[in-house]
Amino acid sequence: MSFDTNSWLDNLSVKWKILAPFCFLAGVIGLSLIALFFVAFSRYQDSVVEDRAKHLSSSIVYALETMRYHTELERYVAILGAEVDVDLLLIVDPATEYVFVSNRVAFRESMARDLPDGALASEVVQSIEEPSSRGMLMWGANTASYAVAAPSLRLDGARSRELVIFVRLKTKSVTAQSSGMAQQLAIGLLAALALAMLVASKLLYDLVISPLSKLSAIAHARTVDPETMAPFTRRLDEFGELSRSVLQSFTEARENANRFEIQAQSDSLTGLGNRVLFKERLHMALAHAERSGKIVALMILDLDNFKDVNDTLGHDVGDQLLQRVATILKESSRQVDTVVRLGGDEFAIIADDLDRIDGVLVHANRILTALSEPQMINGHEVHPGVSIGITSYPQDARDPDVLLKNADLALYRVKAEGRGNIQLYRHELHLKVIERNAIERDLRTAITEEQFVLYYQLKVDTETGGIVGAEALIRWRHPERGMIPPDVFIPVAEKNGSICKLTDWVLTEACAEIRRMMDMGLPPVSVAVNVSALDLRRPDFTDQVAATLVRAGVSPKYLEIEVTESTVMHDVDQVIGTLRRLRALGVSISIDDFGTGYSSLAYLKQFPVQTLKIDRSFVADMTDDLNSHAIPQLIVDLARNLGVSVIAEGVETEEQRELLLSMGCGQAQGYLFSPPVPSAAFVEMLEDKVCFPRENKLDESSDSPLPVSVA
Ligand code: C2E
Ligand code: MG
Ligand code: MG
Repeated sequence: MSFDTNSWLDNLSVKWKILAPFCFLAGVIGLSLIALFFVAFSRYQDSVVEDRAKHLSSSIVYALETMRYHTELERYVAILGAEVDVDLLLIVDPATEYVFVSNRVAFRESMARDLPDGALASEVVQSIEEPSSRGMLMWGANTASYAVAAPSLRLDGARSRELVIFVRLKTKSVTAQSSGMAQQLAIGLLAALALAMLVASKLLYDLVISPLSKLSAIAHARTVDPETMAPFTRRLDEFGELSRSVLQSFTEARENANRFEIQAQSDSLTGLGNRVLFKERLHMALAHAERSGKIVALMILDLDNFKDVNDTLGHDVGDQLLQRVATILKESSRQVDTVVRLGGDEFAIIADDLDRIDGVLVHANRILTALSEPQMINGHEVHPGVSIGITSYPQDARDPDVLLKNADLALYRVKAEGRGNIQLYRHELHLKVIERNAIERDLRTAITEEQFVLYYQLKVDTETGGIVGAEALIRWRHPERGMIPPDVFIPVAEKNGSICKLTDWVLTEACAEIRRMMDMGLPPVSVAVNVSALDLRRPDFTDQVAATLVRAGVSPKYLEIEVTESTVMHDVDQVIGTLRRLRALGVSISIDDFGTGYSSLAYLKQFPVQTLKIDRSFVADMTDDLNSHAIPQLIVDLARNLGVSVIAEGVETEEQRELLLSMGCGQAQGYLFSPPVPSAAFVEMLEDKVCFPRENKLDESSDSPLPVSVA
């Protein structure tokens, strides 16, 4: 059997390493003491027996010296022999080998039978003659004999002879008293030894084992702090030294860990916490709120103009702006709130222990106001602006990841609706996302399954009501959801890129429609197609348009492209390039929703535009108040100055038509004339040469008005 002694010993706890040898030593000492005791005790007993034998033989010697008749001696010896501890008393005459005195009445007879007197006498005499064996003779376990030479005596007038006195004692009786005492002494000694061991082990335990186990427990629990360690570190012994070293290394380790943790959890630029700290604090806040039943609010903040600041004023100013924002966020928040920078220009605030959510709105408003103030950085006036999305526990969600998503969604909403605002997460926002995902999924198959249809809305001459063109507007006939308006799916298609396929489909359909009109012998009107920013960034877009026109056999002059104002303001150079190529092809271009996109007039001059479309919100806002006419009037004047046409969208009432007419807006589009209609209804209206208003209907024979934007 192989047995690794070292590892076995190593695995033994120090307690047992100390206690086991200690117990072993105590056992050895105890056993040695007992053995020593027995040796000493038997020696002592021997001396007791010897003393007693000496005493008896001295008495007999004295009697021999003083008594004249051996009968007197016999009586005296009989008295002595009757004592309890005396087994046998003999007076032997070595000359005759005759035993003549015994204490026992029946002695002579028994001696005669078991041991002839002569033999006994010679044995006794022999023992006297051998000096070494003088003294004690052990006869069995329970008796001891003692023989002594007596002086020459003259008894009964006989000649003097040397006699031997033989004493045999019952050792038990002799030592009875002393052994009782010795037993008590032994028990006392053992008890004292046991007590000493107990005291020693208690001391050992208190002084060595207990401090050692406490030290190892402290080290193990890693709750090493100066206060709990004080009883140890104050000591001057090895434990003191050990605990001081342990405390020092733990303190150093903790300081290093703290330093590392702070570094790992903070944002080096702003000094705020980072995403790591954010996650940890959010978990803690939610756990605490679960116990306390309070509310936790989570705010995600995103700077509105950070990219512009970075691009125009440089990264140094950008960095300083982020630091300034960090200070403002800290100052606008409570001490207990967690303010972190999640990355880039995105910040987050966790406000916990709230009774109501209202306080957070006040908090968010305070931040919004502070960040809408211009900031002076390196002599530049910077307008950071911020959008804030807010969600709360437990109303909106209980899971930290879901809460974060909610806040992001609310923030996205603010951004989509024009920035610089606050949005609380609502469940509807979430539903919108779900709907959005469903739309995105269904869009993939919608074209191949021919679920799209193209509607046409007339553009008319504001004064005469004659048809001057049409706008193609896409509709989605969803097999389950019914008709889905473009406002719902166009943004999704723009986001996932499928808008390009949609535009191709619309272009093909619109050109086919123009072809159909021509084939039917109808006077063709130009049809406008809406295109998105992504289309304008396609390098092959112009080729695509040209190919579609060629395939349908339609002249470019009948096609119009509508781009929204915000679309053309992105990647201006690229967009201008595409628009110029389209224009060179012969396609006309109009700017849709004009007035809503804060377009730069400087750029506008560079765009090869033929028409501005006044956004329907300005038309809807027109009332008796002259101020409400200002923007449409401005756009009409601008168009005139730029030498382009102008058309108003969303004209719903006769009053609006008249007002627009009075402003000089030559064309209009809206429900007053016709809603967007399917191809068949559109063709019908063309066939009828419908004129709006009806009373102004043009004469059948008159020429159909030409498209205004024909190049
Ligand atoms: P838009 O290009 O400004 O189109 C005009 C919108 O105003 C159309 O909404 C039209 O139905 C609506 N409208 C016309 N007259 C009136 C009126 O008198 N009152 C009111 N309240 N609304 C009127 P629709 O068809 O829902 O289209 C919405 C937007 O979707 C369009 O705005 C356009 O930006 C986009 N869109 C539509 N079809 C397409 C397309 O094929 N491609 C692209 N990229 N976008 C499209
Ligand atoms: Mg349009
Ligand atoms: Mg429009």
